[in-house]
Amino acid sequence: MSSKALSMDIKRRGLLLVLSSPSGAGKSTLSRLLLEKDDQITMSISTTTREPRPGEADGVDYNFVTIPEFEDLVAQDGFLEHARVFDNYYGTPAAPVEKALQQGRDILFDIDWQGTQQLAQKAKGDLVRVFILPPSKDELERRLRARAQDTDEVVAKRMSKANQEISHWAEYDYIIVNEDLDQAEEELFSILKAERLKRERQTGLLSFVKDLMGEED
Ligand code: 5GP
Repeated sequence: MSSKALSMDIKRRGLLLVLSSPSGAGKSTLSRLLLEKDDQITMSISTTTREPRPGEADGVDYNFVTIPEFEDLVAQDGFLEHARVFDNYYGTPAAPVEKALQQGRDILFDIDWQGTQQLAQKAKGDLVRVFILPPSKDELERRLRARAQDTDEVVAKRMSKANQEISHWAEYDYIIVNEDLDQAEEELFSILKAERLKRERQTGLLSFVKDLMGEED
């Protein structure tokens, strides 16, 4: 029997990487960087009832739907998780996640603490939860204002909601304080790298190790 090539034979179990944070902590930027630089990870595109912001495209940033459409999807059991966040509904469509996992891909979720709790019940060992904190309250407010896409009222509401989101930080596996974007990015990649190397994720290792030890499958 010829020796097995490591890279060809070792299949890895896909993981579900959740990024949560209060709005303005840099989660969207970090998600974008991860998706640009890593070709093994796919973004889960959420469905929402909120209005698209300028520059947002349907099917790219979110699937934008009406409240009755969202309710239909809930009734059809179409979501892995769903929650009301601020004044809108958000949900993770189940089918694309299942498809990506079958293809052995990792999936990135930008969802809140409520969705993370629901996913934790369903995915258990496949879930990696990362919480991103802003470096200070002042910086968080500055970042929220810099977006200039929301009204003052929305910004104020999000600042008060930030505390609510932050209060769930201890339910996450990893915490990144995003003071310096390059460092935060490096930390996020380190988490992903280490998680991918976990023994239980490297499901193809068993036959590889048997081969290393000269045993038949
Ligand atoms: P935004 O409206 O600013 O895009 O997102 C508001 C919040 O909703 C963010 O904290 C984001 O993580 C969360 N969110 C986005 N999609 C989902 C989803 O599918 N499920 C849950 N539970 N939260 C989501």
